[in-house]
Amino acid sequence: MSTWDVEVVGLAGRSADNSTFEFQKGMGQRREIDYQAWLLSSDLERVIVDCGPNPREGTSRDVNVERGVGELLGSTAGLVTDVVLTHAHWDHMGGLRDFPHARIWMQQAEWDFIRSPYVKVPAIGRYYGDTSALQEAHNEGRLRLVSGVAEVRPGIRVRWSGGHTPGHQTVDVDMPSGLGVVCGDLVPVIDNIIDGTLPGIFTDALECVDAIERVVASRPQALYTGHDRDAAVHALDWAWITTWNAGGTR
Ligand SMILES: [Zn+2]
Repeated sequence: MSTWDVEVVGLAGRSADNSTFEFQKGMGQRREIDYQAWLLSSDLERVIVDCGPNPREGTSRDVNVERGVGELLGSTAGLVTDVVLTHAHWDHMGGLRDFPHARIWMQQAEWDFIRSPYVKVPAIGRYYGDTSALQEAHNEGRLRLVSGVAEVRPGIRVRWSGGHTPGHQTVDVDMPSGLGVVCGDLVPVIDNIIDGTLPGIFTDALECVDAIERVVASRPQALYTGHDRDAAVHALDWAWITTWNAGGTR
């Protein structure tokens, strides 16, 4: 059985309103958050989940990104065979061109959405940046479009969640210690699980509920949230998590 170590790659930090990450909670309160990517390593292979904001786009959005993910990873970037995108928001796919030969994994629903008229609506489109690197990957035959569940490599599985965006996905990783879940922005901060709050940004609240309950029901050993500060890995005592039904009632 293949197992993978997960390493959080911090790319930038900033202070933001708490309600950006917990829906209608802590409005007016500041919260320190990070932008990050997740490097998965087996004995022989490297896979990256999300690739963060890039310096150029960061500048245009007032986020100081000193070095993009490719520069931070150095020679390791060349070993990455697969990039998994939880979703296509600007702060999760900005480093795509740092992996010019890698396969790119995303949900068909996200691919369809970024080419739909909705992203031309500023209220929705403001979270998306330059997605032309995806079109290039598609033209080069490197884009892997998933509908639902797929195995990226043995021990790494993506699952559609929707919720935060129509084609958002989470990533299950078989780690030496057990299951790890890279949540992306389905769970941008661990308080979503502890307090029972929705992410601050979503296109479908009920999809968020269903997907968060699925994650809770899977009782992961390690949970990687989208934007918690300082490379946060969460090992929770799931027996005491009562904020979600874990799929028990529907
Ligand atoms: Zn994000």
